[in-house]
Amino acid sequence: MPYEVAPLPYAYNALEPNIDELTMHLHHDRHYAGYVNNLNTAVEKHPELFRMSIADLLRNINTIPEDIRTAVRNQGGGAANHNLFFDIMGPNAGGQPTGPLADAINRTFSSFDQFKTQFSSTAAGIFGSGWAWLTVDPSGAITLESTPNQDNPLMSGRIPFFGLDVWEHAYYLKYYNVRADYIRNWWNVVNWANVARRYEAALKGEFLYIV
Ligand code: MN
Repeated sequence: MPYEVAPLPYAYNALEPNIDELTMHLHHDRHYAGYVNNLNTAVEKHPELFRMSIADLLRNINTIPEDIRTAVRNQGGGAANHNLFFDIMGPNAGGQPTGPLADAINRTFSSFDQFKTQFSSTAAGIFGSGWAWLTVDPSGAITLESTPNQDNPLMSGRIPFFGLDVWEHAYYLKYYNVRADYIRNWWNVVNWANVARRYEAALKGEFLYIV
């Protein structure tokens, strides 16, 4: 079965003024959908792999047939990363997490404000295209990390549950080259309830691909 594009779970203009409607159309309908379609085209060369979830393709990237390994890494990574990204944003969002996720962030970074500063700095410092993440490692600890391009931390044995896309396609139409302003405003659209759901899943070893 081919991999699916998750519909955007809110209106394309719902994140205005922090993220503009045209960017959301292009980002979801062309970039994200493009990654999923290109992943399907690659996996059609080895259709038995359709039995695996996108997360399992990425976890096992080194065993994927060599002729499609780079495509699965880039397009499968792009599919998984954007599925997470659109899910952890929403209207009437922002603020701070609560419950076990808040406790884990406070334990790891001392405070939410310290976490926000460190995460923003990591995202701002990525050279070129990539992602900033919070991941869960096999011990259950939280790590702040970044990946280049569409690489996903699943390829390194950690499960991402929170991530920020700093490819220029995510912000250039509104923010031009000022990535720092995009990052500052992005916190206003974070849906912490959905981040918490992904954190709970990650603690159980699961990466959610929600369609
Ligand atoms: Mn993107």
